[in-house]
Amino acid sequence: MHLLNRGCLLIFCFVVAQSSLAKVISTCYGTTANGRLEKGVKLPSKGKNFKAYSWMGQQLGRTYLHSSVHDILIAAYKSLEKKAPSKVFMYAETGFASGGKFKPHKTHQNGLSLDHMVPVLRGEKSVHLPTSVFNRFGYDIEFDLTGKYESYKIDYEALALLIGEIHKQALKRKLDLWRVIFDPKMTPSLYKTSYGEYLKENIMFSKKRSWVRHDEHIHIDFKVPRKSLDKKPASSL
Ligand SMILES: [Zn+2]
Repeated sequence: MHLLNRGCLLIFCFVVAQSSLAKVISTCYGTTANGRLEKGVKLPSKGKNFKAYSWMGQQLGRTYLHSSVHDILIAAYKSLEKKAPSKVFMYAETGFASGGKFKPHKTHQNGLSLDHMVPVLRGEKSVHLPTSVFNRFGYDIEFDLTGKYESYKIDYEALALLIGEIHKQALKRKLDLWRVIFDPKMTPSLYKTSYGEYLKENIMFSKKRSWVRHDEHIHIDFKVPRKSLDKKPASSL
């Protein structure tokens, strides 16, 4: 083997070894409403078909979650690149690297909560919601019950597909979704899509109104094995 090739191979092996070493496994404690997280993983700012809701939110460390939930979401996006190549997605707030109180949210404390903006269409084109500091990074946007906000309309097909794909990716890892919070008055529109039957059979949508209306975003809580909050991690015993 040429010396240069051998050098490249060595560097390649080193990088592979480093990247597998860098694979972090998070641990979650307590509940989504009273919990914490160890070794939270930050979501990437963007990918081929997705991006974060806010640059500032990322800088403030508000896009960390449990490593398994991170992997589920990224794998779902990857799969959607093939299944729905014209669609774009935007995730929103998740939590802090170490979990804990995450105002103004009441949950998001142990790395198992994910907010995701609804995919939207402008005309026939899949676009991102216009998030900025002026609309509280998208959270102040109010859709009417027909799913319209200014020139945007909720892409229910893409939203149903996204939820279904996240669920499938969770099952692949022997995990599951606990619940999805979405405006109960708008959930029937999800059931009317091509993935409606799958959602009806597999996803528990909240039936009562949440403390804040979930029309511009959905909130997903994942089922991942947790440790109790008072239990000290083994390393600090
Ligand atoms: Zn939430």
